[in-house]
Order: sequence, then C-alpha cells, then structure tokens
Amino acid sequence: MRDLAAALADRHARHLYRQRHIIDGPQGPRLQSYSKTLLSFCSNDYLGLASHPLLIKALQQGAERYGVGSGASHLITGHSRAHHDLEQALAAFTGQPRVLLFSNGYMANLGVITALAGRHDIICQDRLNHASLIDAARLSGAGLERYHHGDIGALQQLLEKHRQQETLIASDGVFSMDGDIAPLPALLKLATQHNSWLVLDEAHALGIIGKQGRGSREYYSLPDSNPALITVGTLGKAFGTSGAFVAGSDDLIETLIQLARTYIYTTALSPAIAHATLTSLQLVNEEGWRREHLQTLIQRFREGARHLSLPLMASETPIQPLLLGSSARVLQLSEQLQEQGILVSAIRPPTVPQGQARLRITLSAAHQPEDIDQLLETLGKLKPALI
Ligand SMILES: *Cc1c(COP(=O)(O)O)cnc(C)c1O
Repeated sequence: MRDLAAALADRHARHLYRQRHIIDGPQGPRLQSYSKTLLSFCSNDYLGLASHPLLIKALQQGAERYGVGSGASHLITGHSRAHHDLEQALAAFTGQPRVLLFSNGYMANLGVITALAGRHDIICQDRLNHASLIDAARLSGAGLERYHHGDIGALQQLLEKHRQQETLIASDGVFSMDGDIAPLPALLKLATQHNSWLVLDEAHALGIIGKQGRGSREYYSLPDSNPALITVGTLGKAFGTSGAFVAGSDDLIETLIQLARTYIYTTALSPAIAHATLTSLQLVNEEGWRREHLQTLIQRFREGARHLSLPLMASETPIQPLLLGSSARVLQLSEQLQEQGILVSAIRPPTVPQGQARLRITLSAAHQPEDIDQLLETLGKLKPALI
C-alpha cells in the first residue's frame, strides 16, 4: 500500500500541492471567500453570464417545467424537450447539421474520440491539448502521437508516417493555459488531405472569438461545413451554465448515440440547466457588447502589462497568462496577490510542462476597466518579486 501521507508531503515540498477555496455566493469579478472580498481573475465565466439574473430566472422556470433532475440517461427517459431544443439551437449557432449534448466537456471528449478511434488507429494531438483530449486518446486504445505546440510540419510528418492507418487529429481551438488560437485553416487542410477527422475543442472559443462568438471558424472566416471537422463545445465557460456538446454531421451524431459510452451510460444533464442555457445562447447572440467590452479589457491589460515589462504570452483571448517558470515563485506571487485582495490561479505542472509555471489571469466581460487597473497596479508593486 502506497504511503499517501508521504506522497502528499512530497507534493507540498515541491510546491505542487493543490487546495480549494470555499466561495460564498455567486460567481463574479468579486468573490466572497472566508469573509473577505477578493477581486477574481480566475474564472472561465468570460461573458459574465454565470450569475446573470435572466439565467437564474430561466433556471427557475426550467425547474418548474421539467423538474431538477433528468431522472435517467438520454436513451432511457432522460432526454427532455429542453435538451432537444438546446441541441437544435446549438446546431444553428455552430452552423452544423446536428448537435449532441453531453454532461460536461470531459465526457464529450472521451465520448467522441473513443467512438471514432480504436486500437488499430492513430490519434495526433497538439502537445498542449486539454487533459480530457489526452485521456480520451488513452482510453480509446489508439496509438497516441503528440506534436510540438502548433507545429503543422510535425503533424504532417506524423500523418505521412501513419498513412496506412486511420488517423484522427485533436486540438484545442483556444489553448486553455496559453490563450493562443490554433491554426485551424492549416489543421483542416491536413485533415482533409489525409482523410482524417479533426476534433476541435472550442471550450475557450465559443461565445468569445469571432465577431458573433461562433468560435474559431468564424475567427478565420471559414465556410460553415467541412466534413472533416467535429466541434466540441462546453457550456460551463462563456455560456455560464454547465454541460457540453459535440456538433457535426447527422451520421456522426447518430454514431455517437449508438457508441459513445460517456453519452449512453450516464444520467442526462439537468433539464433545468438545458433550459437556462437557451437563455445564455440568446444573450451570447444578442449582446455583442460583452465581447467588445472584453476585447477592450484585454487590450487595456496587455498595454499596462507591457508597460510594466511583465512576461506576457502571445494571446489575444481573455486568457492572459504571465509565464514565470518556477512553481515556487508562481505560488508565492499568487499568495502575495491574495494578501492584496486579488485572486489569480497559480498553474503548475502537470497542468503545464515542467519549468513553465504561470499565473493564469482570465478576464471577463463582468470586469470593469478599474478592475484591470487595480490588478496592474498590484502586479507593478509586486514586480520585484516577479522577475
Ligand atoms: C474546461 C475544458 C474542458 C472540460 O469541460 P467541462 O465541461 O468543464 O468538463 C474540455 N476541454 C477544454 C479545452 C477545457 O478548457
């Protein structure tokens, strides 16, 4: 039996220990925690919808109409009208023929990849892909090949090396810990040339990038349908609720209904949440000012950080990490920020590669310019500790 206490102590000593904060009250730029108010730059609630009054009302209405729990899996009696309506609304939003809802993004990635790839196949992944894509490949039993971040040449070599096999490419659309945007046109071109699927995880893209928030495809002005492309979206980030979906062709969705084990063997998402998400989708569509405001905040932060010579990364999205390298320094700085009333997550290995620990600052449309200024001012004060 492994000595858990010793392993935990070792994690502590290496500054890798993870702890939770208890948050009292709703998600937002100001969080109540342990009777303190903290200005937060940690959440993925990019559009500030998680505690929007209209969403709260929609959730209440959804609960009244459909109840709280779905009571069963989708294939038994858990597939409510609310789920079905949301699938259709998301299909229209993503410009794809069909959508299938999953309980969360982790399960959507496991479901789609294990349904499409098996032990004779090869899955090629960007080295910085989200853990759920990597785990999906492992679970599928397919060979896993990882290419250097954004390196299209390396991906091409992998696809050529495995041209006798079925291949599937998986990539984050916006990389969750770096904030940069995947080279979708080049990925799609390679996928098409090599008759390979491209599973694009748009968790940090939908609702945020592209003028109308339609994600990477809109950002690159690509036409709506490409048979190689499978989009995974999550509802717990910009949409402010929870759940996830896969969007693609009719045959793809029917295949997932038959084969995706994380779809079949689990209770359907709460129908009240599905109902509330219809309202988020409406807000994402109608309130373009949220994305515009967010862009203004991103520019304001980047200009201020450049002025302070902070170690910014090349990101134009609300994910604005400061790359510090050492886990100990990142942890220390995050604690110092917290003493100053600011919450920023310390992201350390194995979430990011060794030696690339960072402060992951995320901005939200619910922030005000003064919040960004307060963050910059505090970072400026702590800067001697930073470099
Ligand atoms: C958050 C995230 C997921 C997981 O989605 P959940 O709905 O939170 O399970 C998957 N992929 C990426 C890129 C993510 O950032």
